Amino acid sequence: MRGCLSGAVIVIAMSSTPAQTAYPDTMADDERWMRHALALAAGAAALGEVPVGAVVVREGELLGEGANAPIGLSDPTAHAELRALRAAAARVGNYRLPGATLYVTLEPCAMCAGAIMHARIGRVVYGTRDPKTGTAGSVIDLFAEARLNHHASVEGGVLQSECAAQISSFFAARRSAHCSPAVSVSDSGSAERLADGEADA
Ligand SMILES: [Zn+2]
Repeated sequence: MRGCLSGAVIVIAMSSTPAQTAYPDTMADDERWMRHALALAAGAAALGEVPVGAVVVREGELLGEGANAPIGLSDPTAHAELRALRAAAARVGNYRLPGATLYVTLEPCAMCAGAIMHARIGRVVYGTRDPKTGTAGSVIDLFAEARLNHHASVEGGVLQSECAAQISSFFAARRSAHCSPAVSVSDSGSAERLADGEADA
């Protein structure tokens, strides 16, 4: 497949994962699950939502998936990560998901980072940075904040170019369709900000 970006993967933060917890995910696994998340994000775009997709995986098993849907659900918390976490927790009957990996096409926001920590997700893999609301190093790095009591290991840049292109294409289509000056964001700009603008429109 095209887009092997192993050289572009950035290790944002490594932390003290429990010794008994193993994350066997390989680069091929990471790309496979990120493609799954990209497909979910494409579905969101088809519904007029900012394209963000997420999956929760543990030991090779898909526990939950979600696509961004704050507009359609009239729910500011309906980010892809939260929807995937809810589905995964419901599936296993436990709000904590130790040993699980969350894949998401866009760097998590503060709300989602908090939920990821509450769920005790062990590893977060994201595709492209969000310079406006990203909290895995772009605006702030909550995952490296020692005063918070849970640290997940975080990797960014898996299928980065494809994840970034998906969002930039969405923004470009919106701009050309609506010529909205309020949506003059950067190519990899804030999903939440656009969603807010869409909801207000
Ligand atoms: Zn979020």
